Amino acid sequence: MEADCLFCRIVAKEIPATVVHETDTTLAFRDIGPKAPAHVLVIPKEHQPDLVALTRANPGLAADVLASATAVAEAEGLLPDGFRLIFNNGGFAGQEVFHVHAHVLGGRPLGPMVAA
Ligand code: 5GP
Ligand code: ZN
Repeated sequence: MEADCLFCRIVAKEIPATVVHETDTTLAFRDIGPKAPAHVLVIPKEHQPDLVALTRANPGLAADVLASATAVAEAEGLLPDGFRLIFNNGGFAGQEVFHVHAHVLGGRPLGPMVAA
């Protein structure tokens, strides 16, 4: 846990969140500013700043995050119509919170993968 990390504080229950899925190693909760009818963030409970750090330090935990994202997509009813999974990694991707997280997005057609 990093004391000044927003998502570590959500894991520690110091900051409230609407949790939709939890395992021993992961937590999934609704994004505070949803960009689609379904917008859930999936994080490892262990602090890693971004996808590259997570995958290099603990690829098994990266797999746990993917498994949890799949479980969330199913629980949100997104499998029949499809959904998008996004990891923003670093500045050009617009990453704002440096505790790695997957965005599970769905519930409507999501348009082009990247704005022109
Ligand atoms: P990033 O830009 O780092 O990929 O995404 C960060 C996401 O975290 C944004 O979609 C933002 O709305 C979300 N977020 C920021 N602060 C909070 C918070 O306190 N609670 C929740 N549930 N989501 C947050
Ligand atoms: Zn953290």
